[in-house]
Amino acid sequence: MNIQMVDVKSQYLKIKEEIDRGIQEVIDTTAFINGPKVKQFQHEFETYLGVKHVTPCANGTDALQIAMMALGLKPGDEVIVPAFTYVATAEVIALLGLIPVMVDVDGDTFNINTESIRSAITSKTRAIVPVHLFGQSADMENIMKIAEAHHLYVIEDNAQAIGGDYIFRDGRLVKTGTTGHIGCTSFYPSKNLGCYGDGGAIFTNDNELGALLYKIANHGQSVRYYHDVVGCNSRLDSIQAAILSVKLRNLDGYCNSRIKVADFYDASFADTEALETPYRASYSTHVFHQYTLKVKDGRRDQLKKYLDDQNIPNMIYYPVPLYKQEAFKASSNGLEFLPVTEELCREVISLPIHTEMDDMQLNYITDKVKTFFS
Ligand SMILES: *Cc1c(COP(=O)(O)O)cnc(C)c1O
Repeated sequence: MNIQMVDVKSQYLKIKEEIDRGIQEVIDTTAFINGPKVKQFQHEFETYLGVKHVTPCANGTDALQIAMMALGLKPGDEVIVPAFTYVATAEVIALLGLIPVMVDVDGDTFNINTESIRSAITSKTRAIVPVHLFGQSADMENIMKIAEAHHLYVIEDNAQAIGGDYIFRDGRLVKTGTTGHIGCTSFYPSKNLGCYGDGGAIFTNDNELGALLYKIANHGQSVRYYHDVVGCNSRLDSIQAAILSVKLRNLDGYCNSRIKVADFYDASFADTEALETPYRASYSTHVFHQYTLKVKDGRRDQLKKYLDDQNIPNMIYYPVPLYKQEAFKASSNGLEFLPVTEELCREVISLPIHTEMDDMQLNYITDKVKTFFS
């Protein structure tokens, strides 16, 4: 059986006409850079997210970097990040001469632990970067309380949870990534809202920050050839914007398809004692960028080998804590061991999940996994 971790091709075929028309329009008008398609997508995305300002940019890593630049952080300032995440989050912090302070995560949600944030705050702390890992928001209400008490900025890395809802204790819903001072996302093709190349966006409800983010992404200028601040060149291509406009209209449907796959997996593995299915927090919907199991009987690597042998795609997100990465040995806070992060690196495995999966594929995968544990 042909199963893929992500099936961008089958998804494309369902919206081919609209996508092809959008791409062709950009070519016909030759408005490749900052064309009307970029502005159009920017405004559609602002409406979808319910935020005042979106700055489209070149990729999700740039989005994080531009966010850090806009906050005016100085070399030596400390930024708190989870140790269990994709490298980009900490990379841009180190790149700007800031210190990534890596803290532990929750064993159930895989997201940054609020107690660990509290203990990591020093007089040099300036910001917190929660990552909404695998499709579910971190505990933003508590994180914002800590941030307010210590006058810290919060940048949300929403690359994996775009399309989800954050649910306040009083029942109010907002889109994930829009509660902190700045939210960032990536349109990498495999993301829940992916384009056909690289792309990213930064969003905020703060008017001053909104203008500054836009300026920094565009060579520090708001009037052409007048440069107020040192910025960078980080643009979303018009062709990618045209693709994203079409895909944004389908995003809620895509998220629902992913949730259905997760529900199927959950039900299938309910009686498999060695497997812990993903926890769903009360304060966030889960849009399942990844479906990540914990293997509790110490056989994670054996399961991986078995799935590889059966040609069932699978991935370990993430095998190594950030503080053990060679790149951060010199630049981080010198940590050596965080218990939950270490445990997750040993136990997690992600199964195929995407918008085009059918019951035949799902039955095949779950039967094989259950056979392994029987
Ligand atoms: C994908 C991703 C990024 C970076 O996105 P790029 O567009 O690849 O630069 C950042 N953070 C997280 C958590 C991601 O998953």
